[in-house]
Amino acid sequence: MNRVISENTIKQNVARILDDLPAGVQLVAAAKTRSHEEITAAIDAGVTIIGQNYLQEAEQAYRFVGRRVQWHFIGHLQKNKLKKAVRLFDMIETLDSLEMAHEINKRCAEIDKVMPVLIEINIAREKTKSGVPPENVEALVREISTLPGIRLKGLMTMGPLSADPEDSRPYFIETRGISQKIERLALPGIEMSCLSMGMSASYRVAIEEGANIVRLGSSLFGQRITENSQPAD
Ligand SMILES: *Cc1c(COP(=O)(O)O)cnc(C)c1O
Repeated sequence: MNRVISENTIKQNVARILDDLPAGVQLVAAAKTRSHEEITAAIDAGVTIIGQNYLQEAEQAYRFVGRRVQWHFIGHLQKNKLKKAVRLFDMIETLDSLEMAHEINKRCAEIDKVMPVLIEINIAREKTKSGVPPENVEALVREISTLPGIRLKGLMTMGPLSADPEDSRPYFIETRGISQKIERLALPGIEMSCLSMGMSASYRVAIEEGANIVRLGSSLFGQRITENSQPAD
């Protein structure tokens, strides 16, 4: 079970953080493991984008909430789930392979949709983490620019987990640098307008280093106790 904080506290957290975010920075409420009531409280207080890590959980929340908000996919999916995912989500923040790009492109073609995506960068080159290593990003971007069902909008990174947000700063700086480098390639259909970096512990540092999307969970909804207890989709 989650350590439940009251809906009022969630609303206060959302209001305080929305107030704190500079203009132009978008808040994604990372809602994994949260109940419909918790998600609704966040929306009532002004959240307009919900981030989901698991397709099944997203579908349940979507049935409840619908298109009042935008839905960002921030987890990892097996290829066979992408057919459903492209219908539900307004953005996929975690594109990390050419195979996945081709599958999204194909599934979007079937429903006449163009999916905005971010490439997830494994900026610290951690063996256990998903995401594209920095040196492989440019090749992937060049391929994506040829796919009509995908519109690359920028980059996303988790950065290495650390108690001290300052440890993340060099990685956020490096991610911004890669984004600027890709922008200078001026490839057709590629528009590097989004930089999704920073979680509850690190979002202020991320914004200082150029993030314009922050993904916050525990600072809105309270600590998660069920973390990682759920199988990946
Ligand atoms: C859970 C999650 C977050 C939010 O993490 P908090 O530390 O709870 O703010 C951000 N991004 C991704 C991809 C997540 O899975």
